[in-house]
Amino acid sequence: MSRATRAVIALSALRHNLQRAREAAPHSRIMAVVKANGYGHGLVRAAEALSGADAYGVSSLDEAAELRDAGITAPIVLLEGFTRASDLSAVREYGVQCVLHHRSQLALLEADRGEAPIAVWLKLDTGMHRLGFSVEDFPAILGRVLDCASVAKPLRLITHLAQADDPDSAETPRQIDLLHGAAADLDAELSIANSAGVLAWPQSHVDWVRPGVMLYGVAPFVAGTGPEHALRPAMTLSSELIAVNRYRRGDRIGYAGTWRCPEDMHVGVVAIGYGDGYPRHAPSGTPVLLNGRRVPLIGRVSMDMLSVDLRSQPQARVGDPVVLWGEGLPVEEVARMAGTIGYELLCGVAPRVKVEVRA
Ligand SMILES: *Cc1c(COP(=O)(O)O)cnc(C)c1O
Repeated sequence: MSRATRAVIALSALRHNLQRAREAAPHSRIMAVVKANGYGHGLVRAAEALSGADAYGVSSLDEAAELRDAGITAPIVLLEGFTRASDLSAVREYGVQCVLHHRSQLALLEADRGEAPIAVWLKLDTGMHRLGFSVEDFPAILGRVLDCASVAKPLRLITHLAQADDPDSAETPRQIDLLHGAAADLDAELSIANSAGVLAWPQSHVDWVRPGVMLYGVAPFVAGTGPEHALRPAMTLSSELIAVNRYRRGDRIGYAGTWRCPEDMHVGVVAIGYGDGYPRHAPSGTPVLLNGRRVPLIGRVSMDMLSVDLRSQPQARVGDPVVLWGEGLPVEEVARMAGTIGYELLCGVAPRVKVEVRA
């Protein structure tokens, strides 16, 4: 029999979450971010389910090409732009808009002798200090961009929030003000907000919002979970019990024997492990849903398996269903236990996990 390990993708949840973004930012257009294989949900699958969006955000030309080859005609924005002169023909061929964040890109555009001007989102670094032109350099760069024949006009301006996941951050209003200051004399559409901006910072909404993780049902904040923001998990990672064994008080479970049975007890083995993208760092006590009820993970996560404490479900049987995250168990909870964020767990589901799509 084939392995039961599955990622069930609920397309209705993606549509619902897009609607939530619309309600939260009703005066903005939505660039649905589908990079990293649609946050692990499938690039084309996610984009098609999110076809109500006004544009898509991707990180690479490869992703843009995959969307175009699948017949998607909506605007696509390359969030990291292009890196070499030879990219520009693909940018034109696929008709993608580019974030322009670095002098090296501007030099390529100034040297470019292509026919059609390229639509550009000029990126201002207002505090993230990752990509973008500094506020000091911005006026000079803007002059060059406006003079560049290979850049389509009018421009659009974009910045990225560094601390919007913290609802008390003083940095976020400062970043928003800086973008407005830079844009004051320009006829340009603006974009600031990621998911955290959409849900917690209305003043960041402006012309375009760029939700990513919330579309997949995950809360972008340091605390809380998607359902608390009326989001629905789009991925449910599931498997089943493949063994139920009884051990004696003091027996050690798994590699390095890190967990000892405090009494005679049943232990279940679930067919999923770090080879599937379940985090190896999830400690004993991380919740796992067995038959719809929580049981704690015990011992170290193996490549293909993990063990669970069956003291609360001694009647559990081989074949009983297990949910690792998704419906009934927010991925944020598992991520926090494992010292990471839901984003990483969703993106990291391994190719060997079978995908099952639900309408
Ligand atoms: C990934 C990304 C987003 C989406 O961020 P979420 O936190 O997933 O909503 C928005 N803008 C840019 C530039 C990004 O790289």
